[in-house]
Amino acid sequence: MITNLVNDDPVAEVARLREGVSQLRVSVDELMRAATTADKEYREVLEAYRMFAHSRGWLKRMEHSIESGLSAEAAVEKEQSEARARLQTVPDPYLRDRLHDLDDLANRLLRILTGQGRETGAKMPERPILVARTIGPAELLDYGRRLRGVVLEEGSIGSHAAIVARALAIPLVVQAERITTEALNGDQIIVDGTAGVVHLRPDESVATAFRDKIAMEAQAQARFAALRELPAQARCGATVSLHMNAGIMADLPSLKGSGAEGVGLFRTELQFLLRSTMPRRSDLAALYARVMEAAGGRRVAFRTLDIGSDKVMPYMRRPDEPNPAMGWRAIRVGLDRSGVMRMQLQALIRAAAGRPLTVMFPLVSEMAEFLAAREILMREIERERHLGHPLPETLEVGAMLETPSLAFAPANFFRAADFISIGGNDLKQFFFAADRENELVRRRYDTLTLSFLTFVQKIVARCAEAGTPLSFCGEDAGRPVDALALAGLGVRALSMRPASVGPVKDLIRRADLGEVAEIIATARRQGVENLRPRLLSYVDQLPRD
Ligand code: PEP
Ligand code: MG
Repeated sequence: MITNLVNDDPVAEVARLREGVSQLRVSVDELMRAATTADKEYREVLEAYRMFAHSRGWLKRMEHSIESGLSAEAAVEKEQSEARARLQTVPDPYLRDRLHDLDDLANRLLRILTGQGRETGAKMPERPILVARTIGPAELLDYGRRLRGVVLEEGSIGSHAAIVARALAIPLVVQAERITTEALNGDQIIVDGTAGVVHLRPDESVATAFRDKIAMEAQAQARFAALRELPAQARCGATVSLHMNAGIMADLPSLKGSGAEGVGLFRTELQFLLRSTMPRRSDLAALYARVMEAAGGRRVAFRTLDIGSDKVMPYMRRPDEPNPAMGWRAIRVGLDRSGVMRMQLQALIRAAAGRPLTVMFPLVSEMAEFLAAREILMREIERERHLGHPLPETLEVGAMLETPSLAFAPANFFRAADFISIGGNDLKQFFFAADRENELVRRRYDTLTLSFLTFVQKIVARCAEAGTPLSFCGEDAGRPVDALALAGLGVRALSMRPASVGPVKDLIRRADLGEVAEIIATARRQGVENLRPRLLSYVDQLPRD
Protein backbone atom coordinates (compact mmCIF):
# COMPACT_ATOMS: atom_id res chain seq x y z
CA MET A 1 0.00 0.00 0.00
CA ILE A 2 1.54 3.30 -1.07
CA THR A 3 0.84 6.09 1.42
CA ASN A 4 3.14 8.91 0.28
CA LEU A 5 1.48 10.01 -2.92
CA VAL A 6 3.02 13.43 -3.44
CA ASN A 7 6.48 14.89 -3.02
CA ASP A 8 7.79 18.30 -2.08
CA ASP A 9 11.35 17.73 -3.25
CA PRO A 10 11.31 16.45 -6.83
CA VAL A 11 15.11 16.45 -7.08
CA ALA A 12 15.51 14.14 -4.09
CA GLU A 13 12.60 12.02 -5.28
CA VAL A 14 14.05 11.59 -8.77
CA ALA A 15 17.34 10.58 -7.13
CA ARG A 16 15.47 7.99 -5.04
CA LEU A 17 13.73 6.64 -8.13
CA ARG A 18 17.03 6.40 -10.01
CA GLU A 19 18.63 4.60 -7.09
CA GLY A 20 15.68 2.20 -6.99
CA VAL A 21 15.88 1.59 -10.75
CA SER A 22 19.61 0.94 -10.58
CA GLN A 23 19.05 -1.58 -7.77
CA LEU A 24 16.37 -3.16 -9.90
CA ARG A 25 18.77 -3.39 -12.84
CA VAL A 26 21.40 -4.99 -10.63
CA SER A 27 18.89 -7.56 -9.41
CA VAL A 28 17.81 -8.36 -12.97
CA ASP A 29 21.48 -8.61 -14.03
CA GLU A 30 22.06 -10.98 -11.11
CA LEU A 31 19.23 -13.14 -12.34
CA MET A 32 20.88 -13.13 -15.75
CA ARG A 33 24.17 -14.25 -14.27
CA ALA A 34 22.51 -16.96 -12.25
CA ALA A 35 20.95 -18.22 -15.46
CA THR A 36 24.23 -18.62 -17.36
CA THR A 37 24.49 -22.29 -16.68
CA ALA A 38 20.83 -22.86 -17.25
CA ASP A 39 18.64 -23.15 -20.29
CA LYS A 40 19.18 -20.79 -23.22
CA GLU A 41 15.48 -20.04 -23.21
CA TYR A 42 15.81 -18.38 -19.79
CA ARG A 43 18.43 -16.08 -21.14
CA GLU A 44 16.19 -14.97 -23.97
CA VAL A 45 13.39 -14.24 -21.55
CA LEU A 46 15.67 -12.39 -19.20
CA GLU A 47 17.26 -10.43 -22.00
CA ALA A 48 13.87 -9.12 -23.05
CA TYR A 49 13.14 -8.47 -19.39
CA ARG A 50 16.41 -6.66 -18.94
CA MET A 51 15.59 -4.60 -22.00
CA PHE A 52 12.48 -3.36 -20.17
CA ALA A 53 14.45 -2.68 -16.99
CA HIS A 54 16.95 -0.62 -18.97
CA SER A 55 14.34 1.14 -21.07
CA ARG A 56 14.99 4.85 -20.97
CA GLY A 57 11.43 5.70 -21.98
CA TRP A 58 10.10 3.94 -18.88
CA LEU A 59 12.40 5.86 -16.53
CA LYS A 60 11.73 9.14 -18.34
CA ARG A 61 7.97 8.80 -18.02
CA MET A 62 8.27 8.13 -14.28
CA GLU A 63 10.64 11.07 -13.80
CA HIS A 64 8.19 13.25 -15.62
CA SER A 65 5.44 12.24 -13.18
CA ILE A 66 7.72 13.07 -10.23
CA GLU A 67 8.44 16.49 -11.72
CA SER A 68 4.72 17.08 -11.83
CA GLY A 69 4.47 16.39 -8.08
CA LEU A 70 4.09 12.63 -7.53
CA SER A 71 6.23 10.60 -5.15
CA ALA A 72 8.56 7.99 -6.65
CA GLU A 73 6.19 5.16 -5.62
CA ALA A 74 3.15 6.95 -7.00
CA ALA A 75 5.02 7.58 -10.25
CA VAL A 76 5.77 3.85 -10.56
CA GLU A 77 2.15 3.02 -9.80
CA LYS A 78 0.92 5.51 -12.36
CA GLU A 79 3.15 3.97 -15.02
CA GLN A 80 1.98 0.53 -13.90
CA SER A 81 -1.70 1.37 -14.09
CA GLU A 82 -1.22 2.93 -17.51
CA ALA A 83 0.53 -0.23 -18.68
CA ARG A 84 -2.38 -2.25 -17.27
CA ALA A 85 -4.86 -0.04 -19.12
CA ARG A 86 -2.90 -0.59 -22.32
CA LEU A 87 -3.01 -4.29 -21.53
CA GLN A 88 -6.80 -4.27 -21.80
CA THR A 89 -6.75 -2.81 -25.29
CA VAL A 90 -3.85 -4.66 -26.92
CA PRO A 91 -5.30 -7.34 -29.18
CA ASP A 92 -2.00 -9.14 -29.79
CA PRO A 93 -1.44 -11.80 -27.13
CA TYR A 94 2.34 -11.67 -27.51
CA LEU A 95 2.46 -7.95 -26.82
CA ARG A 96 0.05 -8.38 -23.94
CA ASP A 97 2.49 -10.80 -22.37
CA ARG A 98 5.34 -8.34 -22.75
CA LEU A 99 3.25 -5.74 -20.94
CA HIS A 100 2.79 -8.27 -18.14
CA ASP A 101 6.58 -8.32 -17.82
CA LEU A 102 6.52 -4.58 -17.35
CA ASP A 103 3.94 -5.04 -14.58
CA ASP A 104 6.25 -7.52 -12.87
CA LEU A 105 9.16 -5.08 -13.05
CA ALA A 106 7.03 -2.29 -11.61
CA ASN A 107 6.15 -4.57 -8.66
CA ARG A 108 9.81 -5.27 -8.03
CA LEU A 109 10.63 -1.60 -8.20
CA LEU A 110 7.85 -0.81 -5.73
CA ARG A 111 9.22 -3.37 -3.31
CA ILE A 112 12.66 -1.79 -3.57
CA LEU A 113 11.30 1.73 -3.05
CA THR A 114 9.04 0.85 -0.13
CA GLY A 115 11.57 -1.49 1.43
CA GLN A 116 8.93 -4.24 1.57
CA GLY A 117 10.68 -7.49 0.74
CA ARG A 118 8.96 -10.65 -0.29
CA GLU A 119 9.89 -12.27 3.00
CA THR A 120 6.67 -12.37 4.94
CA GLY A 121 8.01 -14.63 7.66
CA ALA A 122 5.59 -17.35 6.54
CA LYS A 123 7.15 -20.77 6.05
CA MET A 124 7.04 -22.32 2.62
CA PRO A 125 4.98 -25.52 2.81
CA GLU A 126 6.25 -28.87 1.59
CA ARG A 127 5.78 -29.34 -2.18
CA PRO A 128 4.13 -25.93 -2.61
CA ILE A 129 1.76 -24.95 -5.40
CA LEU A 130 1.67 -21.22 -5.98
CA VAL A 131 -1.76 -19.70 -6.60
CA ALA A 132 -1.74 -16.07 -7.72
CA ARG A 133 -3.54 -13.55 -9.88
CA THR A 134 -0.46 -13.26 -12.08
CA ILE A 135 3.31 -13.68 -11.81
CA GLY A 136 6.27 -12.27 -13.71
CA PRO A 137 9.11 -14.35 -15.13
CA ALA A 138 11.73 -13.06 -12.70
CA GLU A 139 9.53 -13.68 -9.69
CA LEU A 140 8.93 -17.21 -10.87
CA LEU A 141 12.69 -17.65 -11.26
CA ASP A 142 13.12 -16.42 -7.68
CA TYR A 143 10.97 -19.29 -6.46
CA GLY A 144 12.62 -21.64 -8.93
CA ARG A 145 12.24 -25.39 -8.87
CA ARG A 146 11.02 -25.36 -5.28
CA LEU A 147 7.53 -24.86 -6.70
CA ARG A 148 5.63 -28.00 -7.67
CA GLY A 149 3.10 -26.10 -9.72
CA VAL A 150 1.69 -22.68 -10.49
CA VAL A 151 -1.94 -21.67 -10.97
CA LEU A 152 -2.76 -18.21 -12.25
CA GLU A 153 -6.08 -16.47 -12.44
CA GLU A 154 -4.83 -14.43 -15.43
CA GLY A 155 -1.86 -14.86 -17.76
CA SER A 156 -1.45 -16.78 -20.99
CA ILE A 157 0.47 -19.80 -22.16
CA GLY A 158 2.61 -17.61 -24.45
CA SER A 159 3.81 -15.39 -21.61
CA HIS A 160 7.40 -15.18 -20.45
CA ALA A 161 6.34 -16.65 -17.12
CA ALA A 162 5.02 -19.65 -19.02
CA ILE A 163 8.30 -19.99 -20.93
CA VAL A 164 10.17 -19.94 -17.60
CA ALA A 165 7.76 -22.50 -16.13
CA ARG A 166 8.33 -24.78 -19.13
CA ALA A 167 12.11 -24.37 -18.85
CA LEU A 168 11.94 -25.29 -15.16
CA ALA A 169 9.46 -28.09 -15.91
CA ILE A 170 6.93 -26.63 -13.47
CA PRO A 171 3.32 -27.44 -14.39
CA LEU A 172 1.40 -24.21 -15.00
CA VAL A 173 -2.29 -23.52 -15.50
CA VAL A 174 -3.45 -20.06 -16.55
CA GLN A 175 -6.88 -18.41 -16.62
CA ALA A 176 -8.15 -20.39 -13.63
CA GLU A 177 -11.26 -18.38 -12.82
CA ARG A 178 -11.77 -17.26 -9.19
CA ILE A 179 -8.92 -19.50 -8.00
CA THR A 180 -7.41 -16.83 -5.76
CA THR A 181 -10.68 -16.47 -3.88
CA GLU A 182 -11.57 -20.16 -3.74
CA ALA A 183 -8.22 -21.74 -2.87
CA LEU A 184 -7.16 -21.50 0.76
CA ASN A 185 -3.71 -21.86 2.22
CA GLY A 186 -2.95 -25.54 2.80
CA ASP A 187 -5.65 -26.87 0.44
CA GLN A 188 -4.86 -29.94 -1.64
CA ILE A 189 -4.74 -29.08 -5.33
CA ILE A 190 -3.93 -31.02 -8.49
CA VAL A 191 -2.37 -29.02 -11.33
CA ASP A 192 -2.71 -30.72 -14.70
CA GLY A 193 -0.46 -28.56 -16.86
CA THR A 194 -0.99 -30.68 -19.98
CA ALA A 195 -4.76 -30.44 -19.92
CA GLY A 196 -4.76 -26.92 -18.45
CA VAL A 197 -7.02 -28.01 -15.59
CA VAL A 198 -6.83 -27.70 -11.81
CA HIS A 199 -8.72 -29.80 -9.29
CA LEU A 200 -9.15 -27.97 -6.01
CA ARG A 201 -9.64 -30.21 -2.94
CA PRO A 202 -9.93 -33.33 -5.16
CA ASP A 203 -11.60 -36.47 -3.87
CA GLU A 204 -9.67 -39.72 -3.79
CA SER A 205 -10.99 -41.06 -7.11
CA VAL A 206 -9.81 -37.94 -8.96
CA ALA A 207 -6.42 -38.15 -7.26
CA THR A 208 -6.03 -41.83 -8.23
CA ALA A 209 -7.06 -41.19 -11.83
CA PHE A 210 -4.53 -38.39 -11.98
CA ARG A 211 -1.73 -40.57 -10.63
CA ASP A 212 -2.49 -43.11 -13.39
CA LYS A 213 -2.46 -40.36 -15.97
CA ILE A 214 0.97 -39.16 -14.83
CA ALA A 215 2.36 -42.68 -15.07
CA MET A 216 1.01 -43.03 -18.62
CA GLU A 217 2.36 -39.64 -19.68
CA ALA A 218 5.81 -40.50 -18.38
CA GLN A 219 5.73 -43.63 -20.52
CA ALA A 220 4.63 -41.63 -23.59
CA GLN A 221 7.38 -39.02 -23.07
CA ALA A 222 10.01 -41.73 -22.85
CA ARG A 223 8.67 -43.21 -26.10
CA PHE A 224 8.83 -39.82 -27.90
CA ALA A 225 12.37 -39.19 -26.65
CA ALA A 226 13.46 -42.57 -27.96
CA LEU A 227 12.14 -41.60 -31.41
CA ARG A 228 14.00 -38.29 -31.56
CA GLU A 229 16.67 -39.39 -33.98
CA LEU A 230 14.38 -41.63 -36.04
CA PRO A 231 12.47 -40.56 -39.17
CA ALA A 232 8.68 -40.25 -39.25
CA GLN A 233 8.47 -43.28 -41.48
CA ALA A 234 5.10 -44.96 -41.69
CA ARG A 235 4.67 -48.73 -41.83
CA CYS A 236 4.03 -48.49 -45.58
CA GLY A 237 7.53 -47.04 -46.05
CA ALA A 238 6.51 -43.43 -46.81
CA THR A 239 8.38 -40.79 -44.83
CA VAL A 240 6.99 -37.44 -43.69
CA SER A 241 9.47 -34.74 -42.75
CA LEU A 242 8.60 -32.92 -39.55
CA HIS A 243 9.60 -29.33 -38.88
CA MET A 244 8.85 -26.81 -36.19
CA ASN A 245 7.28 -23.36 -36.17
CA ALA A 246 9.17 -20.53 -34.45
CA GLY A 247 8.97 -16.78 -34.00
CA ILE A 248 11.57 -15.71 -31.46
CA MET A 249 15.12 -16.72 -30.65
CA ALA A 250 13.85 -18.47 -27.52
CA ASP A 251 12.14 -21.03 -29.76
CA LEU A 252 15.36 -22.19 -31.40
CA PRO A 253 16.74 -24.37 -28.58
CA SER A 254 13.71 -26.63 -29.12
CA LEU A 255 15.00 -27.53 -32.56
CA LYS A 256 17.41 -30.06 -31.14
CA GLY A 257 15.28 -31.36 -28.32
CA SER A 258 12.14 -31.87 -30.40
CA GLY A 259 13.75 -33.87 -33.18
CA ALA A 260 12.44 -31.43 -35.84
CA GLU A 261 14.41 -31.38 -39.08
CA GLY A 262 14.29 -27.62 -39.45
CA VAL A 263 12.07 -24.57 -39.03
CA GLY A 264 9.19 -24.85 -41.49
CA LEU A 265 7.78 -21.47 -40.53
CA PHE A 266 9.62 -18.61 -38.88
CA ARG A 267 7.05 -15.88 -38.19
CA THR A 268 9.01 -12.64 -38.52
CA GLU A 269 6.36 -10.21 -37.32
CA LEU A 270 7.11 -10.51 -33.60
CA GLN A 271 10.31 -8.47 -33.93
CA PHE A 272 8.25 -5.72 -35.51
CA LEU A 273 5.44 -5.91 -32.98
CA LEU A 274 7.71 -5.88 -29.96
CA ARG A 275 9.09 -2.41 -30.54
CA SER A 276 7.77 1.07 -30.41
CA THR A 277 9.71 2.04 -33.55
CA MET A 278 10.48 0.26 -36.80
CA PRO A 279 13.44 -2.10 -36.30
CA ARG A 280 16.60 -1.22 -38.20
CA ARG A 281 17.90 -3.34 -41.02
CA SER A 282 21.14 -4.03 -39.17
CA ASP A 283 19.24 -5.25 -36.07
CA LEU A 284 17.10 -7.54 -38.16
CA ALA A 285 20.09 -8.88 -40.11
CA ALA A 286 21.88 -9.64 -36.82
CA LEU A 287 18.82 -11.41 -35.43
CA TYR A 288 18.22 -13.48 -38.59
CA ALA A 289 21.91 -14.44 -38.61
CA ARG A 290 21.60 -15.60 -34.98
CA VAL A 291 18.54 -17.66 -35.91
CA MET A 292 20.44 -19.30 -38.79
CA GLU A 293 23.41 -19.97 -36.54
CA ALA A 294 21.20 -21.48 -33.85
CA ALA A 295 19.62 -23.70 -36.50
CA GLY A 296 23.11 -25.07 -37.20
CA GLY A 297 22.71 -25.57 -40.92
CA ARG A 298 19.15 -26.83 -40.74
CA ARG A 299 16.67 -25.16 -43.08
CA VAL A 300 14.76 -22.15 -41.74
CA ALA A 301 11.85 -20.87 -43.85
CA PHE A 302 11.57 -17.16 -43.08
CA ARG A 303 8.06 -15.92 -43.68
CA THR A 304 8.09 -12.22 -44.60
CA LEU A 305 6.14 -9.81 -42.46
CA ASP A 306 2.52 -10.91 -42.01
CA ILE A 307 1.30 -7.66 -40.61
CA GLY A 308 -2.27 -6.40 -40.49
CA SER A 309 -5.39 -8.19 -39.27
CA ASP A 310 -4.80 -8.80 -35.54
CA LYS A 311 -1.10 -7.86 -35.75
CA VAL A 312 -0.81 -4.10 -35.52
CA MET A 313 2.48 -2.19 -35.37
CA PRO A 314 2.19 0.87 -33.17
CA TYR A 315 4.37 2.98 -35.48
CA MET A 316 2.55 2.28 -38.72
CA ARG A 317 -0.71 4.01 -39.45
CA ARG A 318 -3.38 1.68 -40.68
CA PRO A 319 -6.75 2.23 -42.22
CA ASP A 320 -9.76 1.26 -40.14
CA GLU A 321 -10.97 -1.92 -41.76
CA PRO A 322 -14.31 -3.65 -41.33
CA ASN A 323 -12.77 -7.10 -41.99
CA PRO A 324 -9.06 -6.89 -41.19
CA ALA A 325 -8.37 -10.62 -41.67
CA MET A 326 -9.55 -10.20 -45.25
CA GLY A 327 -8.10 -6.74 -45.50
CA TRP A 328 -4.85 -5.00 -46.17
CA ARG A 329 -2.40 -7.45 -44.69
CA ALA A 330 0.64 -9.64 -45.33
CA ILE A 331 1.92 -9.61 -48.93
CA ARG A 332 -0.67 -6.99 -49.85
CA VAL A 333 0.99 -4.46 -47.54
CA GLY A 334 4.39 -5.75 -48.64
CA LEU A 335 3.67 -4.99 -52.30
CA ASP A 336 1.81 -1.70 -51.78
CA ARG A 337 4.43 -0.30 -49.36
CA SER A 338 7.40 -2.20 -50.60
CA GLY A 339 9.91 -0.17 -48.54
CA VAL A 340 9.43 -2.30 -45.42
CA MET A 341 9.48 -5.57 -47.34
CA ARG A 342 12.62 -4.54 -49.23
CA MET A 343 14.33 -3.64 -45.96
CA GLN A 344 13.39 -7.01 -44.51
CA LEU A 345 14.58 -8.87 -47.61
CA GLN A 346 17.89 -7.01 -47.51
CA ALA A 347 18.29 -8.02 -43.86
CA LEU A 348 17.62 -11.66 -44.77
CA ILE A 349 20.09 -11.60 -47.67
CA ARG A 350 22.77 -10.04 -45.47
CA ALA A 351 22.12 -12.51 -42.67
CA ALA A 352 22.45 -15.44 -45.06
CA ALA A 353 25.82 -14.28 -46.51
CA GLY A 354 27.19 -17.52 -47.93
CA ARG A 355 24.50 -19.69 -46.31
CA PRO A 356 21.31 -21.02 -47.90
CA LEU A 357 18.30 -18.69 -47.69
CA THR A 358 14.65 -19.71 -47.70
CA VAL A 359 11.98 -17.03 -47.97
CA MET A 360 8.23 -17.44 -48.15
CA PHE A 361 5.55 -14.89 -48.81
CA PRO A 362 2.34 -14.97 -46.74
CA LEU A 363 -1.26 -14.84 -47.97
CA VAL A 364 -0.55 -15.01 -51.67
CA SER A 365 -3.92 -14.95 -53.44
CA GLU A 366 -2.83 -14.95 -57.08
CA MET A 367 0.22 -15.75 -59.17
CA ALA A 368 0.91 -12.10 -60.03
CA GLU A 369 1.45 -11.27 -56.35
CA PHE A 370 3.97 -14.04 -55.95
CA LEU A 371 5.82 -13.07 -59.12
CA ALA A 372 5.93 -9.40 -58.08
CA ALA A 373 7.26 -10.23 -54.60
CA ARG A 374 9.85 -12.59 -56.01
CA GLU A 375 10.88 -9.91 -58.50
CA ILE A 376 11.49 -7.51 -55.60
CA LEU A 377 13.62 -10.14 -53.87
CA MET A 378 15.65 -10.78 -57.03
CA ARG A 379 16.23 -7.05 -57.47
CA GLU A 380 17.53 -6.86 -53.90
CA ILE A 381 19.87 -9.77 -54.59
CA GLU A 382 21.15 -7.94 -57.66
CA ARG A 383 21.64 -4.80 -55.62
CA GLU A 384 23.65 -6.68 -53.00
CA ARG A 385 25.74 -8.28 -55.74
CA HIS A 386 26.39 -4.82 -57.17
CA LEU A 387 27.49 -3.58 -53.76
CA GLY A 388 29.92 -6.46 -53.58
CA HIS A 389 28.24 -8.06 -50.55
CA PRO A 390 28.32 -11.84 -50.10
CA LEU A 391 25.18 -13.48 -51.45
CA PRO A 392 23.18 -16.43 -50.11
CA GLU A 393 24.67 -19.76 -51.10
CA THR A 394 21.33 -20.93 -52.45
CA LEU A 395 17.91 -19.32 -52.61
CA GLU A 396 14.48 -20.91 -52.26
CA VAL A 397 11.40 -18.76 -52.72
CA GLY A 398 8.04 -20.14 -51.69
CA ALA A 399 4.45 -19.06 -51.28
CA MET A 400 2.02 -19.69 -48.46
CA LEU A 401 -1.25 -21.03 -49.75
CA GLU A 402 -3.75 -19.48 -47.35
CA THR A 403 -6.60 -18.45 -49.63
CA PRO A 404 -8.64 -20.93 -51.68
CA SER A 405 -8.06 -18.90 -54.87
CA LEU A 406 -4.39 -19.83 -55.05
CA ALA A 407 -5.24 -23.51 -55.34
CA PHE A 408 -6.79 -22.63 -58.73
CA ALA A 409 -3.88 -20.49 -59.97
CA PRO A 410 -2.37 -21.24 -63.41
CA ALA A 411 -0.01 -24.19 -63.62
CA ASN A 412 2.95 -21.81 -64.12
CA PHE A 413 2.45 -20.57 -60.61
CA PHE A 414 3.03 -24.06 -59.20
CA ARG A 415 6.09 -24.39 -61.40
CA ALA A 416 7.41 -20.94 -60.48
CA ALA A 417 7.29 -21.46 -56.72
CA ASP A 418 10.23 -23.38 -55.26
CA PHE A 419 7.86 -24.71 -52.62
CA ILE A 420 4.37 -24.15 -51.28
CA SER A 421 3.29 -24.20 -47.67
CA ILE A 422 -0.35 -24.45 -46.71
CA GLY A 423 -1.17 -21.97 -43.94
CA GLY A 424 -4.05 -24.04 -42.64
CA ASN A 425 -5.15 -21.54 -40.00
CA ASP A 426 -5.97 -18.92 -42.57
CA LEU A 427 -6.94 -21.35 -45.32
CA LYS A 428 -9.53 -22.95 -43.07
CA GLN A 429 -11.04 -19.65 -42.00
CA PHE A 430 -11.50 -18.61 -45.62
CA PHE A 431 -12.60 -22.06 -46.78
CA PHE A 432 -15.35 -22.33 -44.16
CA ALA A 433 -15.91 -18.55 -43.81
CA ALA A 434 -15.38 -18.91 -40.05
CA ASP A 435 -13.24 -16.32 -38.29
CA ARG A 436 -10.31 -18.04 -36.54
CA GLU A 437 -10.46 -15.43 -33.76
CA ASN A 438 -14.18 -15.72 -33.09
CA GLU A 439 -15.01 -18.12 -30.25
CA LEU A 440 -18.59 -18.48 -31.52
CA VAL A 441 -17.49 -20.11 -34.77
CA ARG A 442 -13.82 -20.97 -34.35
CA ARG A 443 -14.33 -24.64 -33.55
CA ARG A 444 -17.47 -25.15 -35.55
CA TYR A 445 -15.87 -26.77 -38.61
CA ASP A 446 -13.56 -29.73 -38.35
CA THR A 447 -10.36 -30.03 -40.36
CA LEU A 448 -11.27 -33.66 -40.94
CA THR A 449 -14.39 -32.69 -42.88
CA LEU A 450 -14.39 -34.38 -46.28
CA SER A 451 -14.76 -31.05 -48.10
CA PHE A 452 -11.60 -29.62 -46.58
CA LEU A 453 -9.63 -32.82 -47.03
CA THR A 454 -10.71 -32.98 -50.67
CA PHE A 455 -9.50 -29.44 -51.12
CA VAL A 456 -6.11 -30.25 -49.58
CA GLN A 457 -5.94 -33.26 -51.88
CA LYS A 458 -6.43 -30.98 -54.86
CA ILE A 459 -3.49 -28.86 -53.71
CA VAL A 460 -1.38 -32.01 -53.27
CA ALA A 461 -2.22 -33.04 -56.83
CA ARG A 462 -1.42 -29.65 -58.32
CA CYS A 463 1.94 -29.52 -56.55
CA ALA A 464 2.70 -33.09 -57.60
CA GLU A 465 1.95 -32.26 -61.27
CA ALA A 466 4.43 -29.40 -61.11
CA GLY A 467 6.94 -31.34 -59.01
CA THR A 468 6.78 -28.62 -56.34
CA PRO A 469 7.42 -29.59 -52.69
CA LEU A 470 4.42 -29.01 -50.43
CA SER A 471 4.24 -28.57 -46.68
CA PHE A 472 1.49 -27.73 -44.18
CA CYS A 473 2.32 -25.31 -41.36
CA GLY A 474 -0.99 -24.45 -39.65
CA GLU A 475 -1.82 -25.57 -36.10
CA ASP A 476 -3.51 -28.74 -37.37
CA ALA A 477 -0.14 -30.13 -38.45
CA GLY A 478 0.64 -30.56 -34.74
CA ARG A 479 -2.53 -32.54 -33.92
CA PRO A 480 -1.59 -36.18 -34.40
CA VAL A 481 -4.80 -37.48 -36.00
CA ASP A 482 -5.13 -34.43 -38.25
CA ALA A 483 -1.45 -34.73 -39.19
CA LEU A 484 -2.02 -38.38 -40.06
CA ALA A 485 -4.91 -37.45 -42.36
CA LEU A 486 -2.77 -34.81 -44.10
CA ALA A 487 0.02 -37.35 -44.55
CA GLY A 488 -2.54 -39.84 -45.88
CA LEU A 489 -3.54 -37.27 -48.50
CA GLY A 490 0.07 -37.03 -49.63
CA VAL A 491 1.41 -34.01 -47.69
CA ARG A 492 4.99 -35.07 -47.03
CA ALA A 493 6.19 -32.17 -44.83
CA LEU A 494 4.50 -30.81 -41.72
CA SER A 495 5.54 -27.91 -39.51
CA MET A 496 4.24 -27.60 -35.97
CA ARG A 497 4.84 -26.58 -32.36
CA PRO A 498 8.03 -28.28 -31.15
CA ALA A 499 6.15 -30.24 -28.48
CA SER A 500 3.98 -31.87 -31.15
CA VAL A 501 6.84 -33.40 -33.13
CA GLY A 502 7.16 -36.43 -30.80
CA PRO A 503 3.45 -37.33 -30.68
CA VAL A 504 2.98 -36.81 -34.45
CA LYS A 505 6.06 -38.88 -35.27
CA ASP A 506 4.95 -41.64 -32.93
CA LEU A 507 1.55 -41.93 -34.62
CA ILE A 508 2.88 -41.77 -38.19
CA ARG A 509 5.40 -44.51 -37.45
CA ARG A 510 2.63 -46.79 -36.20
CA ALA A 511 0.29 -46.12 -39.13
CA ASP A 512 0.08 -47.11 -42.78
CA LEU A 513 -0.59 -44.09 -44.98
CA GLY A 514 -2.15 -46.27 -47.69
CA GLU A 515 -4.72 -47.45 -45.15
CA VAL A 516 -5.43 -43.84 -44.15
CA ALA A 517 -5.95 -42.90 -47.81
CA GLU A 518 -8.29 -45.89 -48.18
CA ILE A 519 -10.37 -44.78 -45.17
CA ILE A 520 -10.78 -41.34 -46.74
CA ALA A 521 -11.66 -42.79 -50.15
CA THR A 522 -14.25 -45.15 -48.63
CA ALA A 523 -15.83 -42.36 -46.61
CA ARG A 524 -16.13 -40.34 -49.81
CA ARG A 525 -17.85 -43.18 -51.61
CA GLN A 526 -20.23 -43.68 -48.71
CA GLY A 527 -21.03 -39.99 -48.38
CA VAL A 528 -19.62 -39.64 -44.85
CA GLU A 529 -18.96 -36.00 -44.13
CA ASN A 530 -16.76 -36.09 -41.04
CA LEU A 531 -13.76 -38.40 -41.06
CA ARG A 532 -12.75 -37.91 -37.44
CA PRO A 533 -14.67 -40.85 -35.90
CA ARG A 534 -13.31 -43.28 -38.50
CA LEU A 535 -9.75 -42.05 -38.19
CA LEU A 536 -9.96 -42.16 -34.40
CA SER A 537 -11.07 -45.78 -34.47
CA TYR A 538 -8.31 -46.57 -36.95
CA VAL A 539 -5.76 -44.98 -34.61
CA ASP A 540 -7.21 -46.81 -31.60
CA GLN A 541 -6.62 -50.23 -33.09
CA LEU A 542 -3.02 -49.53 -34.21
CA PRO A 543 -0.42 -51.67 -32.47
CA ARG A 544 1.93 -50.02 -29.97
CA ASP A 545 5.37 -51.43 -30.41
C1 PEP B 1 -1.56 -20.09 -40.99
O1 PEP B 1 -2.36 -19.23 -41.34
O2 PEP B 1 -1.84 -21.30 -40.95
C2 PEP B 1 -0.19 -19.74 -40.57
C3 PEP B 1 0.70 -20.68 -40.36
O3 PEP B 1 0.12 -18.42 -40.39
P1 PEP B 1 -0.44 -17.54 -39.16
O4 PEP B 1 -1.06 -18.48 -38.18
O5 PEP B 1 0.73 -16.80 -38.64
O6 PEP B 1 -1.43 -16.66 -39.86
MG1 MG C 1 -1.63 -17.27 -41.90
